[in-house]
Amino acid sequence: MYSELVMEHFRNPRNMGVIEDADGVGEVGNPQCGDMMRLTIKVKDDILEDIKFQTLGCGAAVATSSMVTEMAKGKRLDEALEISNRAVAEALGGLPPAKMHCSNLAADGLQAAIKDYRSRQAAK
Ligand SMILES: [Zn+2]
Repeated sequence: MYSELVMEHFRNPRNMGVIEDADGVGEVGNPQCGDMMRLTIKVKDDILEDIKFQTLGCGAAVATSSMVTEMAKGKRLDEALEISNRAVAEALGGLPPAKMHCSNLAADGLQAAIKDYRSRQAAK
């Protein structure tokens, strides 16, 4: 039911963990299957220097979290904000229709973390 790539990211998630002195934090959840995701980012000169995630959830949620960190790392914030939930799912070779809601977490979490970073900058 999951693509080989989804299973691969689920078994070997990239960038898992927490950045202790993060510049931005995004927390999102999805009531349908109880997935929770926390994304921490490190930003330098408007570039996403580092991203880490913690995801408590189903295989699709873990795999999309892992994929979104790979897609966003090293990108400018504006570029990272353009990564859509759909693009993440497509990069993984698609997700079963019943699991599409899980893939919505990843890009939402990233956007929440960037928003948090920007509001912190604005407050300075
Ligand atoms: Zn899920």
